Amino acid sequence: MSTQNIECLIIGSGPAGYTAAIYAARADMKPVMYAGMQPGGQLTITTDVENYPGYPDGIMGPEMMELFRKQAERFGTDVRYGMVTKVDFSQRPFKIEVDESQHLLAETVIIATGASAKWLGIPSEQKLNGKGVSACAVCDGFFFRGKEVAIVGAGDTACEEASYLAKICSKVYMLVRRDSFRASKAMQHRVQNTPNIEILFNTETDEILGENKVEGMRVKNSQTGQTKEIAIQGFFVAIGHQPNTDVFKGWIDMDETGYIKTLPGTSKTNIEGVFACGDAQDKVYRQAVTAAGSGCMAALDAERFLAANKHAVA
Ligand code: NDP
Repeated sequence: MSTQNIECLIIGSGPAGYTAAIYAARADMKPVMYAGMQPGGQLTITTDVENYPGYPDGIMGPEMMELFRKQAERFGTDVRYGMVTKVDFSQRPFKIEVDESQHLLAETVIIATGASAKWLGIPSEQKLNGKGVSACAVCDGFFFRGKEVAIVGAGDTACEEASYLAKICSKVYMLVRRDSFRASKAMQHRVQNTPNIEILFNTETDEILGENKVEGMRVKNSQTGQTKEIAIQGFFVAIGHQPNTDVFKGWIDMDETGYIKTLPGTSKTNIEGVFACGDAQDKVYRQAVTAAGSGCMAALDAERFLAANKHAVA
């Protein structure tokens, strides 16, 4: 067992975590980052990123995260590979366990563990991921300009993304597994009143068709069991996200779905000295640029907290 005192511990290595690290390192807080199970976060499983300002020609998600990492390391961030497996936020310095074996002490903690998209779990979805299958309409919708696409889901996200896609694509099939929506009435009305959105109720996805790119889908009516094939070029999954916050349960206030609650307009959690940023606390915007912005907020909040609560840091 090794014990070390860390001034600013950042958990998670997506845009939020790296931006927090850049700010914390430049403020001389000697940040240590644990990169987690998917170093670089959700952007490492996307292709072109065209909506992040500063990249007029776009950039591949994995390359972008490599640049984030380099920038954070340039100012002295200690990026380590490992998973935080337990925390004790009962008093400062906070106790953190990594990979069930290593024990650390941290004066401040920035949670930037992100969220993971939920998937249907069918083999063709995995096979065609990034080849026409996507879990982010705002990120990838543009590649299907003028084409026919489908989106699965019946919540607010699915409705919002279907409306977004309808502006870009010629036709959007919305696959709703039950006979009704889960989304708010306002969102339901919006999709119902959009002429190029066709809602297929009681419809499940049997298979996404195509070898190297999406060419169609086979859907099944859950009432009759009848299947049919429909030609599409893009297939979007919008059945919810799961914030990666399990390890903080019992310490940090969360909503019923596990998103961390922060004091509005700040990154402060219910525990003084613990801050949250990025998708772990944002279920509405979920963009790289908003995550990065909130990571900056978390580092500034942590810096101010440390200045106001000077503890001996070894
Ligand atoms: P939700 O959990 O609200 O909805 C998920 C949807 O996916 C449900 O309709 C569910 O169906 C469906 N679904 C789940 N699993 C499957 C499956 N295997 N096959 C087919 N369909 C499936 O997630 P959202 O991401 O939509 O929203 C999360 C939260 O964020 C909500 O509280 C929402 O209100 C909020 N939000 C608010 C926005 C806003 O205010 N502008 C925008 C976006 C989100 P079923 O209904 O049958 O369970």
